[in-house]
Amino acid sequence: MTSAPDIAANLAATRDAIDAACRKWDRPAGSVRLLAVSKTKPAAMVNAALAAGQYDFGENYLQDAESKIPEVGDPRATWHFIGAIQSNKTRTIAGRFGWVHTVSSEKVARRLHEQRPDNLPPLQVLLQVNVSGEASKGGLEPGDVAPLVSEIADYDRIAIRGLMAIPAPEPDFEKQRVPFRRLRELRDEIAVRFADRVVGFTELSMGMSGDLEAAIAEGATWVRVGTAIFGARNTTAHGV
Ligand SMILES: *Cc1c(COP(=O)(O)O)cnc(C)c1O
Repeated sequence: MTSAPDIAANLAATRDAIDAACRKWDRPAGSVRLLAVSKTKPAAMVNAALAAGQYDFGENYLQDAESKIPEVGDPRATWHFIGAIQSNKTRTIAGRFGWVHTVSSEKVARRLHEQRPDNLPPLQVLLQVNVSGEASKGGLEPGDVAPLVSEIADYDRIAIRGLMAIPAPEPDFEKQRVPFRRLRELRDEIAVRFADRVVGFTELSMGMSGDLEAAIAEGATWVRVGTAIFGARNTTAHGV
């Protein structure tokens, strides 16, 4: 074990990096939101982040999240599911989370719609797109996004808000921008095409620690950062 991370300082540094990228790329202040990825990390670390003014948290592992969310028990926290979705686990996502970034099938969208509890607002949904064409990555092919939106646009217990991608790691800044640009163009195209059926299709969840600036340059509205805030994960536990 390494020493405990200074979560408030790490959050401040991450916010500074986001703000600097916004200034550099002419993005309005506040147009990029930080999703703090707390997967595998204990409730105490989430509480430290909440105390430092961070309210959005990303989780990949349902079993971990199912105990952590009530343990944190803070109504200011908004939980985002960002992991692979097994269709038999949708009830937990529909009941516990405010957002899900990784929807890529009609079946999962329909189950989330049917299972969203009546006392909660519609679940905010992003569609995951495989923008770098890797066989191993989850998500829709870009050409399959519009047909899926057409199928699920009228499910009123979910709100389809935009797109998410996890491009292949790439060190070169200009090359990093390519899949992000593609995701932005796809979002714009879908927003126009479905303007009469889908309201607020504005979000782009893209960019992690290594490609945050390129994502912001191309219009990210959510960047997802884990390790730089909460410290390294024990990779043997979950393999991610
Ligand atoms: C884990 C994860 C992140 C954060 O990764 P770090 O390397 O810890 O910053 C972002 N997005 C997704 C989808 C993840 O699974």
